[in-house]
Amino acid sequence: MEEVAILGSTGSVGTQALDVVRRHPDRFKVVILSAKRASRRLLEQAKAFEPDFVITEEPAPDGFKRELPTKTKHLTGLLGLSLALERTKPKKVLNAVSGIFGIEPSFRTLEHSNALLLLANKETVVAAGELLKPYLERIVPVDSEHNALFQVLRNLKREEVKKLYLTASGGPFRGMGKEELKRVRPEQALKHPRWRMGKKITVDSATLMNKGFEVIEARYLFEVPVERVEVLVHPQSLVHGIVETVDGHHFLVAYPTDMRYPLQHALFYPERVATDLPTLSWTSVGKLEFERPDFDTFECLKLAYEYGRRGFPHTALLVGADEAAVELFLEGKISFTDIPALVKRTVEALAPRFEGPPTVERAVEAAAAAYAAAKGSA
Ligand code: MG
Repeated sequence: MEEVAILGSTGSVGTQALDVVRRHPDRFKVVILSAKRASRRLLEQAKAFEPDFVITEEPAPDGFKRELPTKTKHLTGLLGLSLALERTKPKKVLNAVSGIFGIEPSFRTLEHSNALLLLANKETVVAAGELLKPYLERIVPVDSEHNALFQVLRNLKREEVKKLYLTASGGPFRGMGKEELKRVRPEQALKHPRWRMGKKITVDSATLMNKGFEVIEARYLFEVPVERVEVLVHPQSLVHGIVETVDGHHFLVAYPTDMRYPLQHALFYPERVATDLPTLSWTSVGKLEFERPDFDTFECLKLAYEYGRRGFPHTALLVGADEAAVELFLEGKISFTDIPALVKRTVEALAPRFEGPPTVERAVEAAAAAYAAAKGSA
């Protein structure tokens, strides 16, 4: 039995991870579950998996605590997380917390335990990627594209790799021009053609900011300059990542559009075990298309490349500014095409204030400041 902690267990990635765990009851023991608030779903998960600790970011009502299984203790916040990690010493910690709130749990895990960090929180890598360098051996990326690249790269030497390709479905607005984009409404942006995900990341997929974040993630996780990371629009979303070697070979990693594949890989890593999920059938796949993204229309992608090249504090500010811009768009306060403009304005305005070497505190502070500034400006 392997002890695992699932942080952000009530979100989309968290619930899918628990589904993988449920399919292998003889393999995993869930010792920690965490979520932002004490919800009915969290309670149901606690009853089903009987972890040692349930952690909520916000204080929980007494009624919630009373309903927890008798062996399960409730703790709050980052301190609670550190304590639970020290007590349970899990072998693996999945960080599926969404947004800026996920940054500190990643570093708590790396600093307060010996666990392998199965990382699904993008903000950790984008906002504080420089700080992950000493821990790269302990990180297994869960984001589908990076998990795909990771699987190939661990079998190659650094000097053998020429280029990394990240695929993008292109989102619901692929092929649209700027004029059309101005008028798209939140409900249209929330209809992702391939993946079912949380709201924030679904809008980020529509603006291609999500892919921009992933370019930055690749820079830090695999230590390659952003110029050697290329984005390919691939509407079928079956090939998730491609590694090109210096001798001209391309390794493609393909699997059905289902997060449980990278989650299973990460949870069992470094082992591979048989899956009971339906696998890809090449004869029914049909055509696979790849095209260049439209950088002029989807300005968020261009911005992310630029800030990815510059690194901290631009990357940390980018995370906060984008989180606010997406919220404002969903609240109907700004248009879809205002998102990149607001992000750019915010990052440029705050960058001088946060210049200097990054720390976890400064990365979180910069992201939070950019969030507040962008949110307050509309
Ligand atoms: Mg992804």
